[in-house]
Amino acid sequence: MSERVTPAVLHAILQAREERAAAIAMMAATYNATVVAFTLNVPGPQKNLPWTAPCLAWGRGAFVHAIQGGNARSVCRVEWQDITPAGPEYRCAVDLSAEVVKRTAIAVEESCRMGRLLDIDVYDAAGRPVTRGELGYAPRRCLLCSRPAHECARSRRHPAAEIAARIEEITAAHHVQHG
Ligand SMILES: [Zn+2]
Repeated sequence: MSERVTPAVLHAILQAREERAAAIAMMAATYNATVVAFTLNVPGPQKNLPWTAPCLAWGRGAFVHAIQGGNARSVCRVEWQDITPAGPEYRCAVDLSAEVVKRTAIAVEESCRMGRLLDIDVYDAAGRPVTRGELGYAPRRCLLCSRPAHECARSRRHPAAEIAARIEEITAAHHVQHG
């Protein structure tokens, strides 16, 4: 968290996010399918840390397991993953309605404390994001307090070091529980 945010680092993160948005729209249009895009909530300029790739891999595994419901036939038509300056990313095109997929994604995000570190965005075949709010879910809670996460992020309520310590605690506990 002590790393400086240089213009070059910031530029690389913003560029990776722009490329992600374009790639999501392209995947939805190409496959005319629901698109699921996994990223992580990583505070600070360094988006690739020892916990990030394992956390994303865990989330992907939990999601694929949940979405297939024990069915061996894959519902993912195409999968893509990479490590970018914006952090590890995974996305796939799924042959199910965007609403079903978003509900499954929320279940994974809320399945355990590590799920809180995942950001699973779901887009319909037209590339429109499906939100928690439109499906009747409450906004996500802050990692450190009971307020909605976006409020604490906007007001920078918590010091970066406290957030980093909380993430450390969550990922360490998950490692102990799940090996
Ligand atoms: Zn908070």
